[in-house]
Amino acid sequence: MLLIDGSEGEGGGQVLRTALGLSLVTGKEFRIVRIRGGRERPGLLRQHLTGVQAAAKLGNAEVEGAELGSMELRFRPRALVSGDFEFSIGTAGSTTLVLQAVLPALLRATAPITIAVEGGTHNGLAPPFEFLERSLLPILTRLGAKLEVALIRPGFEPAGGGRIEVKVTPSPLGSLELVTRGKLLRREAKAVVASIPLKVANRELGVVREELAFTDAEIRAEEITAPSPGNAVTLTLEYEQVTDVFVGLGAPGIMAEKVARRAAGEVKRSLRTDAPVGLHLADQLIVPLAVAKGGVFRTVEPTPHTRTQVELVPRFLPVKIEATPEAQNASTWRIRVAPI
Ligand code: ATP
Repeated sequence: MLLIDGSEGEGGGQVLRTALGLSLVTGKEFRIVRIRGGRERPGLLRQHLTGVQAAAKLGNAEVEGAELGSMELRFRPRALVSGDFEFSIGTAGSTTLVLQAVLPALLRATAPITIAVEGGTHNGLAPPFEFLERSLLPILTRLGAKLEVALIRPGFEPAGGGRIEVKVTPSPLGSLELVTRGKLLRREAKAVVASIPLKVANRELGVVREELAFTDAEIRAEEITAPSPGNAVTLTLEYEQVTDVFVGLGAPGIMAEKVARRAAGEVKRSLRTDAPVGLHLADQLIVPLAVAKGGVFRTVEPTPHTRTQVELVPRFLPVKIEATPEAQNASTWRIRVAPI
């Protein structure tokens, strides 16, 4: 049985999710101790627990320690199952991160699967739905996967209540080479408000116009319906080979201008490099490449999340993963995932 120290590397939920997903596709049993040991409030929070429950369902697994606050877990998958599944986090915990925990099983599906997850769809420090849809999904499609995702209802912090649905059709996987962005094809700034005045969205778009010179044709404000008030400004840069998505989330007491300026700042940072894979996408691509037939991508300097994936994934799968700077002191790196 594999023993994993959940406080190592980035020391948060990602260690657990990666272990769950890879255990599902390898059949390897694991025990994880000090779950989220690097965090102020360690142990399983609702999002992580739902990830464990989802993985347990998809892998018909035997699990010990699947309780809120648990710092240890034993997970023994039996066989991957297919069918229709529903999971509810019960808080605004991130639905896309629950999906991240079972993604390897979806990529290796041998029969159709649908999954609905309820909770938060637009969270700080997690992939917002649009990132999943526009940034990650097209790359999984290039790898050969057949996945459809839908935002049924947005869910914002603190109430949650959002819903995403994922439909998987089994399909053989290949490899990926993603080393250039290609030409910029389209930009879009969309500011949405739920039970918040539309002028908040317009103020955000004003900042985007000023900071990034977006034109009227590139911006859009929209009133949406959600179980609780919420506001998000989503900036999308679509290139030939990849799409970048940056989201600023409104929160009580934070000026609309500040929300938009933060998101615009992320866009500016990303425009300073020509690496096609941004810092968040990098840590999210390593598992899919390892589950498929490998590949190579150019990215920015690896984050602790990315470095953790580089260390952890080969403990489950026979792959060699190398992260190498392109030159001394280079700000661009190549990450290669090679099946052994
Ligand atoms: P904790 O760190 O408290 O355990 P967690 O389980 O919610 O929290 P992490 O383990 O930190 O989360 O993982 C966060 C994941 O969300 C990573 O895969 C990261 O790339 C992704 N992510 C964070 N922010 C963004 C963003 N703005 N866009 C896309 N992905 C993001």
